[in-house]
Amino acid sequence: MQDFDPIETLAAARHTFGEHGGVNKSIEASTTFTVMAAQTLPDIFAGRRTPDADGCFLYARHFNPTVYSLGHELAALESAEAGYCCSSGMGAISATLTQLCNQGDHIVASNTIYGGSYALMNNYLPLKSGVETSFVDIRDLAAVEAACTAGTKVIFAEVVSNPTLQVADIQALADIAHRRGAKLVIDNTFTPVLISPLRLGADVVVHSLTKFINGASDVIAGAICSTEEFIAELMDLYTGSLMLLGPTMDPKTAFEISMRLPHLGIRMRAHSDRAMGIATRLHDLDLPVVYPGLPSHPEHELMTAQLNQGYGYGGLLTLNLNSLGRANAFMEHLQNRHGFGFMAVSLGYSDTLMSASGASTSSELTEDALDDAGIGPGLVRLSMGYTGTLEQRWSQLREALEYVGMIN
Ligand SMILES: *Cc1c(COP(=O)(O)O)cnc(C)c1O
Repeated sequence: MQDFDPIETLAAARHTFGEHGGVNKSIEASTTFTVMAAQTLPDIFAGRRTPDADGCFLYARHFNPTVYSLGHELAALESAEAGYCCSSGMGAISATLTQLCNQGDHIVASNTIYGGSYALMNNYLPLKSGVETSFVDIRDLAAVEAACTAGTKVIFAEVVSNPTLQVADIQALADIAHRRGAKLVIDNTFTPVLISPLRLGADVVVHSLTKFINGASDVIAGAICSTEEFIAELMDLYTGSLMLLGPTMDPKTAFEISMRLPHLGIRMRAHSDRAMGIATRLHDLDLPVVYPGLPSHPEHELMTAQLNQGYGYGGLLTLNLNSLGRANAFMEHLQNRHGFGFMAVSLGYSDTLMSASGASTSSELTEDALDDAGIGPGLVRLSMGYTGTLEQRWSQLREALEYVGMIN
């Protein structure tokens, strides 16, 4: 267990006064900003004047004060020097990878990652930029090392992989990356607050704010947390991926997300508690449940060692129902008979979201890649919500398991 509480640093970063002394920040809706002296403009363009150094804003695709302020909050959450937000998690990931990799460079990535990230690295980047990716079992450090080439610029992994819930050893991966002059980029979408990858040696953390951080399944958004230098590179007016590809966050969205951050720690703990309760009961029935909080999980100890204390092991668990037909019957029964959650992709919502990963969020993977990643057709991913009570949800789940013949 790590001795760090990101919710404390987040609270300190949020303790600022609004424009009129309000307890909340204001929304700065301007797309463009005045300069009082004309000679300021060349300084802003050259990056000699910045929002932080002297409050100079230029144009809202570059920096907007409200979005900038949310970036500060997320940087505090992630123990980063700096952070900036963008329009989606994929915007954050694609901007990061295109910033770190030039034409012909190489990436080593985990073979069990979000389907969109997989498609970006497997299909899109080779075609558009000649950046090739080797996909490996990220737990196999020798395989990671062996996959690195002279051109490797990035090692990419999720802390807890989607949807197989394998745990990456961040410190060990950072060591491999740094020995080769590469950067470790970690997608922390599944484990905000629980794990602080930058404190464990990662260079860049990317987030889909769409999931746990926003928590209400009503906005698409992303963020990048790293050094001031890297954020400045991304925002460079001449060569920055965020600046030039333009996945800009709207200030109203930034405001809404910021209003939900004070509850993030409470929500993460509630997701974890519920997931642990359900996973333990499934495990007690000898069902094929995977949850990093179970001592039976192969990387349980590694996960525990990387965790910040007090927020549990996260809200995601999987249950293997062996066939897609049975998985579908199980989910339909839960949703339509019991009102237990929703059959929907995505995760990190107040209510449970469930999907058969192979036929949905990982469908970008080829059949071989699904096999390699261990994503069987009957694998159901549950993002445990915290509505209702554990007893109520367990009795519903138990009945659905009986209904599909997993238990008697
Ligand atoms: C959803 C998700 C993404 C993509 O985020 P968007 O906000 O949908 O663009 C990336 N990584 C992981 C782990 C995700 O769950």
